[in-house]
Amino acid sequence: MTTTLTTCPYCGVGCGISASTTDNSLDRQDLHIRGDDAHPANLGRLCVKGSALGQTMGTTGRLLQPQINGINCNWPKAINAVAEGLKQTIAQHGPGAVAMYLSGQLLTEDYYVANKLMKGFVGSPHVDTNSRLCMASTVAGHKRAFGADVVPGCYDDIEQARLFVLVGANMAWNHPVLFQRIQRVLQTKPTARLVVIDPRRTASCESAQLHLQLRPGSDVLLFNGLLSFLAEQGKLDHRFISLHTEGFAQALASAQLQAASIAQVAAGTDLPEAQVTKFYRWFADEQLSLTLFSQGVNQAMNGTDKVNAIINCHLATGRIGKAGAGPFSLTGQPNAMGGREVGGLANQLAAHIDYSNPAQQALVGQFWQAPNLAAAPGYKAVELFDAIERGEIKALWVMATNPVVSMPQADKVKAALAKCPLVIVSDIYQHTDTLDCATIKLPALAWSEKDGTVTNSERRISRQRALYSPPAGAKADWQIICEVANALGFTQGFNFSSAAEIFAEHAALSAFGNSAGDDKQKRAFDISGLAQLTAEQYQQLAPVQWPVNSANPFGTARLFSNGRFFTATGKAQFIAVRQCQFVEASAQTPLWLNSGRLRDQWHSMTRTGNVPRLMQHTPEPFVAIHPADAALYGIAAADLVQLRNRYGQLLLRAEISTDQRPGELFVPMHWSAQFASQARADVLFAADTDPLSGQPALKLGQVALRRV
Ligand code: SF4
Repeated sequence: MTTTLTTCPYCGVGCGISASTTDNSLDRQDLHIRGDDAHPANLGRLCVKGSALGQTMGTTGRLLQPQINGINCNWPKAINAVAEGLKQTIAQHGPGAVAMYLSGQLLTEDYYVANKLMKGFVGSPHVDTNSRLCMASTVAGHKRAFGADVVPGCYDDIEQARLFVLVGANMAWNHPVLFQRIQRVLQTKPTARLVVIDPRRTASCESAQLHLQLRPGSDVLLFNGLLSFLAEQGKLDHRFISLHTEGFAQALASAQLQAASIAQVAAGTDLPEAQVTKFYRWFADEQLSLTLFSQGVNQAMNGTDKVNAIINCHLATGRIGKAGAGPFSLTGQPNAMGGREVGGLANQLAAHIDYSNPAQQALVGQFWQAPNLAAAPGYKAVELFDAIERGEIKALWVMATNPVVSMPQADKVKAALAKCPLVIVSDIYQHTDTLDCATIKLPALAWSEKDGTVTNSERRISRQRALYSPPAGAKADWQIICEVANALGFTQGFNFSSAAEIFAEHAALSAFGNSAGDDKQKRAFDISGLAQLTAEQYQQLAPVQWPVNSANPFGTARLFSNGRFFTATGKAQFIAVRQCQFVEASAQTPLWLNSGRLRDQWHSMTRTGNVPRLMQHTPEPFVAIHPADAALYGIAAADLVQLRNRYGQLLLRAEISTDQRPGELFVPMHWSAQFASQARADVLFAADTDPLSGQPALKLGQVALRRV
């Protein structure tokens, strides 16, 4: 039996796994999984999804031969077809007519070469990722406040904290292993408390001392009210504010305009005054407070403002860079952060370098010896698919994601792909809703077959290691990209022979022109300490939190402990934010629609949907309806109902529950046409985005409901 340490491919907790195998048989039925006791993220724990990984293996349904227009072909022919298709598109329409849409499921090394090829060599800036649907508002909020896309704290802060505030995050289901760590603190520390801020009563509320079931989208008002309260009660850390921050007076004035009193906040958020007061009092009195937030914050038209409203309260009380205190963004995907590190977002180049800094931009071109460096930001996800629909982008390469299910106005995205002359999709399965739109299908390696790194929510880089030899017919994503690059004529820069070599180049780029002696030019993302790893050292690499450099050779648990931030002045920035106006539901679509994850499913279910044990939890798609609405529309439990609006319609089973507020519905986000013909939730969400982050508002749609 061979035992290998690797990392779970699902959520952003990034649990370590100890995987034992007895042979290399293609059915993979010999895999035994348990939590890695030594991995700092999970210390041996795994949730139900991670522990069922062994049941998702095997080659049934795998794509193991490239296809062009549905006809099997060999790899040379497929690589040549991709390269010729891209070449012709570029020759006729310019490099801006080609694009990539990547994924937080990719490994950092795959992401790195994809981004390098498009932004450095082809010269197209249009590389975006499904992280745009997940973390983009947090990225924008962090950059405004801290000058860089960084999570300040670490998971060990959980054991130090005494107040946990969950905002728009059902951790019990979506970050289960971290939630278990919180539960343990709640059980063992008598003064510890959990507050859940969520319009819906979720499984996380079962452990909470207080659930604030606020009006959807009113988070800015709630946290502006908290800032006002902290000021009024004399709970500010004036020393921290004056030494380490800027913009406090404006942020407080802005907060007080709409949220000077508890009564104002209670009225705007639909919360009882007593509950608001209780939350504010608990936060004011507990220094050891962690505010953990996720998609309920990010997936909104004002997602970035929500992030900054939260951060403002931590800056005002000096609760950042300290053990047990801080704002903490929970990453949705296993490598959303690693993708950002290499520049997977359309508004970044690489190594956290933006287009806005010409000197830094030139560094990337110099380091890559790039013949055709993209000069300006490209299209963010929603803009990207709109550009395809307009016919402006004529060749798209999608890797490891399923936008026909996950993008807002998903039917429009599907129609756009049908019009696109060249759609290349790299995936591990024969059929997904997006693969079924592909001109060229490229079989990629799956988890357990590929090698590389991922970065979890606490900036921790961990190795994902191969457990099996690659099956004949599939290739690593980085290898496919390099072969296409070579076929395009870019031989210099893509002659990698292993993931280890790519990682070393990625680490070297993070150090390039990133002088430790010049604080003002210092970039946050620095893994220079890993640039000289040998292949053997890369193979043995233990989980480590960046920055990793000469000053911190063993990584960095917490940032900002010295009060210095990555802004031009070295000071954190308060951002003056205002609660945006609430929109009234229209007469045609009078109900609000919320979407989210289920405990046992992952994304569009391509992997978890094939595991009977995981399907048992929730076997079919549903819409949760409040009893008052069910009575109004004459709907009983288990009735078939239709949700519709101008973007599309769904057919779902009714579930009657008081978990959501009257007038609000909830649907799980997972089902694709592959598993249920009319249950793709994202069909119904408008492609409205946060103006700063470009993140779609996937928590607040408007629909009509009827029994069928
Ligand atoms: Fe995997 Fe997340 Fe579960 Fe850990 S908590 S086992 S990373 S799905």
